[in-house]
Amino acid sequence: MDAYDHPTFQMACQQFDFVADHLQMPESERPRLKYPKRAMIVSLPINCEDGSTKVYTGFRVQHHLTLGPTKGGLRFHPEVTLGEVAALAMWMSWKCALTGLPYGGAKGGIACDPHRMSPREVERLTRRYTQEMIPFIGPQIDVMAPDMGTNEQVMAWIMDSYSMHMGYSVPSIVTGKPLSLGGSLGRREATGRGVAHLVARAADTIGLKLKNATVAVQGYGNVGAVSAQTLAGFGAKIIAVSDVSGGVYNARGLNLGKLAEHLEKHRMVKGFSEGEPISNEQVLLTPCDVLVPAAMERQITGANAGRIRCRILAEGANGPTTPEADAILSQREDIFVLPDILCNAGGVVVSYFEWVQDLQSFFWGEKEVMEKLHHILDEAYDRVLGNSRAQKISMRTAALCVGIQRVREAKAIRGLFP
Ligand code: GLU
Repeated sequence: MDAYDHPTFQMACQQFDFVADHLQMPESERPRLKYPKRAMIVSLPINCEDGSTKVYTGFRVQHHLTLGPTKGGLRFHPEVTLGEVAALAMWMSWKCALTGLPYGGAKGGIACDPHRMSPREVERLTRRYTQEMIPFIGPQIDVMAPDMGTNEQVMAWIMDSYSMHMGYSVPSIVTGKPLSLGGSLGRREATGRGVAHLVARAADTIGLKLKNATVAVQGYGNVGAVSAQTLAGFGAKIIAVSDVSGGVYNARGLNLGKLAEHLEKHRMVKGFSEGEPISNEQVLLTPCDVLVPAAMERQITGANAGRIRCRILAEGANGPTTPEADAILSQREDIFVLPDILCNAGGVVVSYFEWVQDLQSFFWGEKEVMEKLHHILDEAYDRVLGNSRAQKISMRTAALCVGIQRVREAKAIRGLFP
């Protein structure tokens, strides 16, 4: 499938083949599970503030529709490509299947830098993308959500554009919406809180006390910041954080309240005065108890995996660890890995709750949302840990096995049409 050629897609395929080998899956069965059901590439012309017209490229990949609609985020980032989005869509499939959600995976993206655009330009681009996607999306077809570079406001514009087209309000077309449009309580915090909840489970498993445990977070966006705040609430000390601008380190623990004020003002971690400046790469190599990569894919590689110094590697990002790094980490008994499709699943789980609430027009309290989230994450964690121990395989292989097997079974039992 040359159309998807990209290092991140190759990585997702490599992971898939590794698990398929472990499951002794015949070669003939693999392409149907591995390759996306369909992909869209669209040209998006918008009028810019300076009077010019600029054409952006948008993507959406729907990995499989075997179990229900596809589900996954929409990313605004200058380097988004079809192959990257296809890999992220595949991971969404395994993540949804692992947590028992009735979805296939999807992901979308627009190659743009929203930080260098005016809010009106971002709005026009979002609305034009939604318009181009109308034949391929719907509450029972494909449901988008926030990802890197997008937020609740972007989801509100998608919901509005789709609803204007239909002629009535369709809140269930997207998740991660503002509460006032049918969003769910707890959705914004869900991914980070899920990360922290699973870190607490992992800490329990390896006998690590979270009180005064040290934490380093690469990527201080929504996921990284909420993970850090929740872990700080458990008594942990956040000693290093970073974003694209760079990072800060403070051995005594960063004051997250003051960091939030700094971010409010300057929109970047760089320049925060209550810590020493460090680079993004240094954050990953900081000796700590819990390392949370919560930024881009392929950050932990064959080149640095041997030098990481943590007890728990909690993957808030999608695909932060390459297969070469995995090979090294699987030899390191000092590191317990919480793989991405488990660790960051809290977001899509609460997205599912939001979709269910929208379809029923019946809304839940935050306590109910959190209890149900913890229940699903606990079950997935127990299953993955059980598989990993019973079969002596890594946590990642164990998690992927559960996800891939569920989709495989569903495809087999549905059979081939016609
Ligand atoms: N973008 C998030 C993820 O990668 C959330 C997807 C969703 O809620 O649909 O898991």
